[in-house]
Amino acid sequence: MGNKLSPLLADVFLSDFELALGKEKLFPRVWRRYVDDIFAAVKERYLTQTLDLLNSRHSTIKFTVEKEIEGKLPFLDLMITRKADNKLKFGIYRKATSTDRYITSDSNHFGAQKQAAFHSMAHRLFNVPMENEEFQAEREKIYKAAVLNGYEKRFVDKILRKHKRKKHRQNATTLEPDKKQERRICLPFYPKITNPVQTVLKQHGYQVAYKSGNTLKDLLCNLKDKVPTDQKSGIYQIPCKDCPAVYIGQTRRKFKVRIREHKHAVDHERGNDSSVAVHTIAHNHTIDWDSAKLVKTVRKAAHLNAWESMYIANAEHVLMNEDDAPISSPLFHLTNLKIQ
Ligand SMILES: [Zn+2]
Repeated sequence: MGNKLSPLLADVFLSDFELALGKEKLFPRVWRRYVDDIFAAVKERYLTQTLDLLNSRHSTIKFTVEKEIEGKLPFLDLMITRKADNKLKFGIYRKATSTDRYITSDSNHFGAQKQAAFHSMAHRLFNVPMENEEFQAEREKIYKAAVLNGYEKRFVDKILRKHKRKKHRQNATTLEPDKKQERRICLPFYPKITNPVQTVLKQHGYQVAYKSGNTLKDLLCNLKDKVPTDQKSGIYQIPCKDCPAVYIGQTRRKFKVRIREHKHAVDHERGNDSSVAVHTIAHNHTIDWDSAKLVKTVRKAAHLNAWESMYIANAEHVLMNEDDAPISSPLFHLTNLKIQ
């Protein structure tokens, strides 16, 4: 049943199955199905025959039976009890392994998420036709679960009142309550900030939804080691200390390595190796090595020429570059790239 389509396919298949078998004499008179879980009333002496009938249609479909014990049978989240007059009585069924653990009150979740489990229990409380004894017992269990998870009594009071009112409304009229057209907005959840913001947004007709994945890890840090800029490749610039000229270049190796080469060329006055050296030799200027930096990290070698050309085309200062940009295009001037 793991696939998202499975419940739908099971429904389609079993509907067809029911239609075909419905005419059979032995088909149970009471037959209530939720996807592939079925509640049926079958006379005990016909049980085996009925099961054989159900299992005879498809080789791969095999029904199993869980019989009532002392007039009680759990079905989905209900405990169904057969009374002396053969009428049925409903209560809420919890598996023996249920721990009543929900999102605790001190957890960093937004209110609606904390309330969700209790809303669902409250809905069930008012919509399953329970007798007073079962109703009170279930009500007590909801309060107990709330306390166990750190909530105060009034937390449950409020939720129960809401569902009670809703039920009364439903009983009084079949008209749907007017629903305002709501606009939705999605925010990350940080209780101190989000709650006041939500109040304001609500006044302006916005329904706020929250992004999940608000873990401690998300809040604290990005655990990935950051690669230092001087270890990256891309477009770099080297300024002159004595005039506004800059050199713009590209490197597919680490920025650090490429800068070292420029330094070496300047120190040894090798104009053939570096346009920066040409500048220092020609004007007797000093280079501001400390301000040399990678201005654009480029990960793909194929993008280097384009980025370098774009930076060159948009340079605000005189360039030391001896060669033209690798790509010449008036389009680069349209990008309005600002280089500091
Ligand atoms: Zn200069």
